Amino acid sequence: MSKFYSYSRLETFEKCPLKFKFKYIDKIIPEVEKTIEAHLGKLVHSALEWLYKEVKNKKTPSIDELIKFYVSEWEKEFTPKIIVVRKEMTFGDYLNKGVEFLAAYYLKNKPFDDNTIEVEKQINLSLDDEGKYKIRGFIDRLTYNLSTGEYEIHDYKTANSPSIESLKNDRQLSLYSLAIKELFGKDKEVRMVWHFLALNKKFHIKKTNEELTALKEEVKRLVEKIEATNDFPPKKSALCSWCEYKSICPAWGNAPPKIEKQKSLEEIKEENSKPLDIWG
Ligand code: SF4
Repeated sequence: MSKFYSYSRLETFEKCPLKFKFKYIDKIIPEVEKTIEAHLGKLVHSALEWLYKEVKNKKTPSIDELIKFYVSEWEKEFTPKIIVVRKEMTFGDYLNKGVEFLAAYYLKNKPFDDNTIEVEKQINLSLDDEGKYKIRGFIDRLTYNLSTGEYEIHDYKTANSPSIESLKNDRQLSLYSLAIKELFGKDKEVRMVWHFLALNKKFHIKKTNEELTALKEEVKRLVEKIEATNDFPPKKSALCSWCEYKSICPAWGNAPPKIEKQKSLEEIKEENSKPLDIWG
């Protein structure tokens, strides 16, 4: 049976093993549902997903319709359990940020004719020949560039500033590139495209098959390390301010809740091998 990992699981483990345990092993539902940044990111992604689905159905929405969709989804999914870490900012400021991102993206990219094949495309990538460990994820948007003959993996970012180095080291889109090559042919060219919405700019990189194969090995080793781990220490960092588990984190002098029946690691790993519904 295959064991599934998502990019965000791997990232969570590396950033803080204790948070990984709280979230994916103990499955603790935090009091704080999400951060405002996560809410903003999700809603902007939903609006762009809706836009491109409409375009595929030959019904290009107007800019007003796009903003209306975003605002109504924001209201539907809003909960007071969302935290705002930056005290100088209000919920309204974040709502407006999304409006600005979407309006600028719309004006720059209309008529959205870059040959979108699929939005929110699910990918599964085996890390080994036996399919023991698999990566599952979703590509924001996949296009086929008719001028260059390249597949393009598009990813939207609502965070502020990228560095070229961080994009070169980005594992998420590289893993997705590998999955696309496995689907359409290893000889196909795949370009990774990041849209930094706060800057209204896109950045793109292509990796060689050798670079992608080396990355797959690196990720496989990381998965094997997680599988072999029994110790999940906290790792304090600036990110703790945005952590939904801070109120139960011993690194901050708080007591974690008692887990009713402590499952064996084998039971937990078996459970985690089931396909996940949510890849947050
Ligand atoms: S508050 Fe910080 S140290 Fe504690 S679980 Fe969250 S990320 Fe880890």
